[in-house]
Amino acid sequence: MASLIHCPHCGVRPRQEFSIRGEASVMRPHPEATDEAWHEYVHIRTNPRGRYVEHWQHVAGCRRWLAVERDTLTHEVFSVTDGASVAREGGR
Ligand SMILES: [Zn+2]
Repeated sequence: MASLIHCPHCGVRPRQEFSIRGEASVMRPHPEATDEAWHEYVHIRTNPRGRYVEHWQHVAGCRRWLAVERDTLTHEVFSVTDGASVAREGGR
């Protein structure tokens, strides 16, 4: 069975059209932050088991960035929202 993602701009599309950037909760530190803060930003990820929000890009479609909530164990997708609207609301 094909894995399908509902892009808010293009509709239901195959999973292969998307690229995963990674964890959406990572916040870029201030440019003058400590080396430790930059190390954590660049290298450290939580890699949870279960529900998780990631940044995905619809590379073979609208090329928009999306916030996708999915289960890392079952790969079930719970929600897909436009990344820009999530960022405006203060989330990532
Ligand atoms: Zn799209």
